[in-house]
Amino acid sequence: MLKKGTKCRICKNKGKNNKAVVFLSHHRLALCKEHFIEWFEKRVEKTIKEFKMFKKSERILVAVSGGKDSLALWNVLYKLGYEADGLYIDLGIGDYSENSKILAKNFADRIKRKLHIVSLKEQLYTIPTIKDFTNRPACSSCGVVKRYYMNRYAKELGYSVVATGHNLDDETAVLFGNTLQWDLKYLSRQYPVLLEEEGFVRKVKPLCKITEKESAIYSVFNNIEYIEYECPFSEGASSIEYKTLLNQLEEKHPGTKLKFYSEFLKKIYPIFKELQKEDKISLMKCRICGEPSYSEVCGVCRLKMLVDKKVKTN
Ligand SMILES: [Zn+2]
Ligand SMILES: [Zn+2]
Repeated sequence: MLKKGTKCRICKNKGKNNKAVVFLSHHRLALCKEHFIEWFEKRVEKTIKEFKMFKKSERILVAVSGGKDSLALWNVLYKLGYEADGLYIDLGIGDYSENSKILAKNFADRIKRKLHIVSLKEQLYTIPTIKDFTNRPACSSCGVVKRYYMNRYAKELGYSVVATGHNLDDETAVLFGNTLQWDLKYLSRQYPVLLEEEGFVRKVKPLCKITEKESAIYSVFNNIEYIEYECPFSEGASSIEYKTLLNQLEEKHPGTKLKFYSEFLKKIYPIFKELQKEDKISLMKCRICGEPSYSEVCGVCRLKMLVDKKVKTN
């Protein structure tokens, strides 16, 4: 909590007397609006450099959902002088998709960068249709579909990197879930940079050390309009339960999330990565669409076949 009358630490160091409006308890840092924005952008830039995510000469495609994280990320990359355009995947989830698409478009206009839009309705089936015609949870199909089109369009449009807005809360929730299961396959891939390989572009998460709260504050301070409610399908997802638990811990012990995540990256990830090297499954090309796949037919083509069949018999 920010105590009344607390001064911005950076202003204070410069001999100014501005009041702080944000208190970052896990960094023990009180900041004014201007210095919070500066802190946020520097932190993202530092993360990009720490993990060698990309260089100024590369073209970056930001996966934009219309939410605070992806728009904040796009804004930071734009301000830092990176060549970053957006990709919006219209999932066809009623008002949620319609509203978030408008917000993504408005933001692209504001920073005058290109927003590519992919419509699932035209390319495949909408997420609600896929959910109705398969027995799979919407979130898992949605993840498969988003990863597929992000990668495919990045290649087709000539971008070498896809950047997503996953924040520290997302990453720790996933890490927590994977640790509860000791899922070595996922743990050995949970790194903020996944290097390019045959048919895959590089994937990066520059907000991995930024909390959800920080990215919301950053968006508000920059007058970024974003979709404020969650996707209607995400209700009841276990990741939300994990986030609640981790937030309870964080409140009592500030810094828990950051420590859990960054110590994993430093100490545990290298060991798991090494372990998994031995049973690395080789990549092949999907025999239907030609995209990289770990099985003969890729996840998206399998979904499509499943829904095609059901639609015919209905
Ligand atoms: Zn200040
Ligand atoms: Zn395929």
